[in-house]
Amino acid sequence: MQLPKSHPRHESLRIRELIAEGIKKGITSEHGLIAHGRGEAFDYLLGEKTNDFALGAIEASAALLLDAKHPVISVNGNSAALVPKELAELSNVLNCPLEINIFHASKEREIKIKDYLLSNGAKNVLLPENDTTLRHLDSNRKYANPKGILEADVVFVPLEDGDRTEALVKNGKKVITVDLNPLSRTAQEATITIVDNIVRAVPLLIKKIIQYKKQYDKNDLNPFNKITNNYNNKIALGDALMKIRQGSSPLPK
Ligand code: ATP
Ligand code: MG
Repeated sequence: MQLPKSHPRHESLRIRELIAEGIKKGITSEHGLIAHGRGEAFDYLLGEKTNDFALGAIEASAALLLDAKHPVISVNGNSAALVPKELAELSNVLNCPLEINIFHASKEREIKIKDYLLSNGAKNVLLPENDTTLRHLDSNRKYANPKGILEADVVFVPLEDGDRTEALVKNGKKVITVDLNPLSRTAQEATITIVDNIVRAVPLLIKKIIQYKKQYDKNDLNPFNKITNNYNNKIALGDALMKIRQGSSPLPK
């Protein structure tokens, strides 16, 4: 679809088109459209920009990921459609695997997502295995890779469902999510919630990780604990709700 740059909702329509393309490519499920619509509504209310509470969460996430022993990035059909290159780059700068995990399970779709990530520069993409399951989760999404999420200490799970977030936390993992809805169970359960659109948040997260890597020498006293300890997810979520209540108009005058 041709989108004129002058259209006042150009960026929102561009992102919507990525999801529609994801469905045509067979990597996003139809239900992903509904999840995206919910995200759009919250993005509108948040002013369609990265707010300060999201920037704080991105800094804490960068520190937590750099401090992790075994970080893993969990990818579903919506995030693969929206930020395939960026997720590949994130995995490469952290030198950690991407692991596919989709709500409406299908091996065929898992393989399509894997191939799509590989064609976008990813080097290490894992699939869940049928004989490996996470505890405290009954849905199809309980399957994990024994060298990936099962072993991970920190999991980056953007656009996640509440049940799985809760289960990951109960399995002893620290969970970082990106979720435009500060009221979702995922947002409330995660260790760090970046309340921002994934298309804006992931590039900023990559930038922050690269900056911290340069800034802090390996031999330095570990600065990352301090950054994560100073971050409070409840306060960040409260600030996001406040922003929504205060209202904002992303539309041009
Ligand atoms: P939960 O299960 O956590 O209570 P939910 O059931 O309301 O949440 P899900 O469909 O499970 O929602 O998850 C999708 C979440 O992803 C929603 O909260 C939605 O706001 C969010 N979301 C959708 N698109 C984006 C996006 N582009 N960037 C960030 N968040 C998004
Ligand atoms: Mg849900």
